[in-house]
Amino acid sequence: MKKSIVFSCLLISSAAVLASADVHWEYSGEHGPEHWAKLSPDNFACSASNQSPVNLTGFIEADLRPIKFNYKAGGSEILNNGHTVQINYQSGSSINIDATEFALLQVHFHAPSENHIEGKSYPLEAHLVHADKAGNLAVVAVMYEQKDKNLAFADAWQQMPKHAGDKQQLNRLFNIDSILPTNRDYYRFSGSLTTPPCSEGVRWLVLKESVPVSEEQVKAFAAALTGPNNRYIQATNARIILK
Ligand SMILES: [Zn+2]
Repeated sequence: MKKSIVFSCLLISSAAVLASADVHWEYSGEHGPEHWAKLSPDNFACSASNQSPVNLTGFIEADLRPIKFNYKAGGSEILNNGHTVQINYQSGSSINIDATEFALLQVHFHAPSENHIEGKSYPLEAHLVHADKAGNLAVVAVMYEQKDKNLAFADAWQQMPKHAGDKQQLNRLFNIDSILPTNRDYYRFSGSLTTPPCSEGVRWLVLKESVPVSEEQVKAFAAALTGPNNRYIQATNARIILK
């Protein structure tokens, strides 16, 4: 009982961190990324110096401890919020990093990828958004390479919400574990949310190995949105990227 109360508080605080404060924003034009910081005082971080996404390069060798994944089938709802298609998770899936547990809240996608790896853009990138009890965020990013159909998310893709505001329960609980690569080595840097309010202090964990997706699957995702949903690459500034 106590645990569920703690978790619901966590969801509220994370929702506050993740909220775009109802200020209208887009990926291009007058409400595009160049203007996000000016759209609302809440978006002040959008013009700060530790923003995401970045081009991951100039790596520093580090003894990065493996991420401990405790994922189970828990993706229960798929929705189109006009900026992305997102799968919300029930409680019970998490990662452990820095001796801290971060609960998996939701998984969403960007086409093309937001982060680049050594200058390379990918057709699709998944963001697995986690929060610890204090509301600190950790995002695991997975890159998709255009190849064969990815059977693991074929079911969820069948229920793709085609219009902004559409939301439905998934017929079968989604298990993100099945769309992760076998090798889970990763790059790490400190960054931000890639959408307003662009809050910083986010632990970014980008898996090195990409996974396959078909052209049709990328097209089905892109067709649910009005255009590309990737923020342009941000300056790395004084940050280091660990590998
Ligand atoms: Zn994202």
